[in-house]
Amino acid sequence: MTMTVQLQKLKMLIGGEWKDGSGGQSFSILDPSNNQIIAEVPRATKDDASHAVESAKTAFQSTEWRDMDSAKRGRILTKLTGLVRESSDELARLETLNEGKTLRESKGDVAWAARAFEYFAGLADKIEGSTIPVPPKRLDYTLREPLGVTLHIVPWNYPIALAARSLAPALAAGDTVVMKPSETTPLTALKLGELASKAGVPKGVVNVITGSGAEVGTHLVSHRDIDGIIFTGSNETGKHVMEAAAKNVTHVLMELGGKNPHIVFSDADVPRAIKAVKDGIFTNAGQMCWAGSRAFIHESIYDGFARELVDKTSRMKLGPGIDESTEMGPAVSRSRQETILAYIKDGVEEGAKLLCGGEKPSDSNLGKGNFVEPTIFGEVTGEMKIGCDEIFGPVLSITKFKTVDEVVSLANESDYGLYGGVWTSNLKTAHEVASRLEVGGVAINEYLVTFPQTPFGGYKDSGIGHENGIRAMEYYTRTKNVSINLG
Ligand code: NAD
Repeated sequence: MTMTVQLQKLKMLIGGEWKDGSGGQSFSILDPSNNQIIAEVPRATKDDASHAVESAKTAFQSTEWRDMDSAKRGRILTKLTGLVRESSDELARLETLNEGKTLRESKGDVAWAARAFEYFAGLADKIEGSTIPVPPKRLDYTLREPLGVTLHIVPWNYPIALAARSLAPALAAGDTVVMKPSETTPLTALKLGELASKAGVPKGVVNVITGSGAEVGTHLVSHRDIDGIIFTGSNETGKHVMEAAAKNVTHVLMELGGKNPHIVFSDADVPRAIKAVKDGIFTNAGQMCWAGSRAFIHESIYDGFARELVDKTSRMKLGPGIDESTEMGPAVSRSRQETILAYIKDGVEEGAKLLCGGEKPSDSNLGKGNFVEPTIFGEVTGEMKIGCDEIFGPVLSITKFKTVDEVVSLANESDYGLYGGVWTSNLKTAHEVASRLEVGGVAINEYLVTFPQTPFGGYKDSGIGHENGIRAMEYYTRTKNVSINLG
C-alpha cells in the first residue's frame, strides 16, 4: 500500500508559544516503513531548554495552576480527554507513520492515553493529606503539595501512551511540565501539547521541546530548577540521568528496561497461551519494555507448543503499519534494525537454535524500511547475550522446564525485573509463581495488560517508583507536615 504523506514543518511549545529552535536547525522525522521524511521538527538548543524550564517555573510560581480549585483542574483534564478522543484518528495515524506500529496498536495506545487523562481527571480533587494523632493540645496534619517543575523524558516506543502516563498525574497534582519526547518520535507529544492548550491548560504549564538526548536531555536533567524527573528509557541512559539528578538531589522516577519471563504450565489453555506468547513479543515489533522475550514452556507440552508457535509466527504478515492487513511493522530506525540483526547473529554464533526468522524479509517492497522477521530461538541460556540483554526487537527465546522451582529460578536469573506472565488453570500455582517472581507486575492467563488505575513499575534494575494508579500521586506531590501547638 502506498500513501502520500504531506510533509509537516512543526514548531515546539515553550511558554505557550509555538517556536522554532533558536539555533535555526531541525530534525527530519522518518517513516520507519520506508525511511521517507514525514516531518521536520525544531532541534532545540540548550538555551531553548533553559527557556522551557523558566516558563514552567514561572507558571508554577504564578500559582494560577497549582492553586486552582482542584475540581477545575480535573475538568480541564476531562476536556483534554475529550479532545484526545475526538482527535484519535489523526493521533493514531501520526503514531503509526512515525513509530511504525500497526494502526490497530496505535488506536489502542491513543485510547489508553485518553483513559489516563480521564482517570487522573477524576483523581485531581482526591489528593488528600491526613491528621495524625499526637500528644494532647496539639494538632498535626499533612499537606499534599505539587512537586513543582517536572521533567518528562519519553522514549520512542509508546510515544503518546507514555507521554500521557506522566503528563496526566503531573497536571492533576498541579505540577508544571517540561516534556522532551524522543528525537525519533516527537509528533504525537507535540499534538498533545496543542490539545492541552486547547483544553484550557494555562500558558507555560506544559512545554514540549524537541531536542536530542545528548544535548538537550543532559542539560535538562542537570538543571537546578527541575524538581522531579520522570525518565522512561534504557538502563544505560537512566544511570546517567540518576547521576546528574544526584548532584542537585532531584527526585527521580525511573521506568527502565525488561527481559520478561512468560511461563506456560501444562494445564494452561494452550491455544490462548500460544497467541499470547506470540503477541507478547511481536506486538510493536518487540520494541516493548514489557515484551515477553523469554518464554518458558512446560516440557510435557513443549514440542507441540513450539511447533504451532513457530508455524503461526512464520506466517505473520509484515508491512507498513498504516496498511490495515499488516500484523507486524518495522523497527523504529535503521540503527535499531542493525542492532537487532546483530543480536540474532550473536545468538547463532553462541549456539542457540534458530527456529524461525532471523533475517530482513525477502519481500523487495519492504527493502526500504527497517523490517526484521519475527524470530524465535530455542536452546538459549542465560549466559548468552540474547539470553540476558534486552534486545528490544522481535526476538523470542523458548525454553523447556520441569518444575515450579526450576522455572522460578530461570525467570529470576535476569538483572531486570519489570513484568512477567503465567499461564495455568491451577490457582495455587498461579499465586505461588506470581509471588515468587522478582518483577513489578505479573499477568495471569493474559499478557500485556495495564490500566491507568493499576501501578506499573520495575523491581531490580527495571526501575524506581511507580506510574499509574493512586500510588503514582505519591511521586507527583510532596508531603508537608504541619504541627500546631494549641496549649
Ligand atoms: P533511551 O534511553 O535511548 O532514550 C530515552 C529518552 O532519553 C529519549 O527521549 C532520549 O532523547 C533521552 N536521552 C538520551 N540520552 C539522554 C541523556 N544523556 N540525558 C537525558 N536524556 C537522554 O531509550 P529509548 O531507546 O528511547 O527507549 C527504549 C528503552 O526504554 C528500553 O530500554 C525500554 O525497555 C525502555 N522503556 C521502559 C518503559 C517502562 O515503563 N519501564 C516503557 C517504555 C520503554
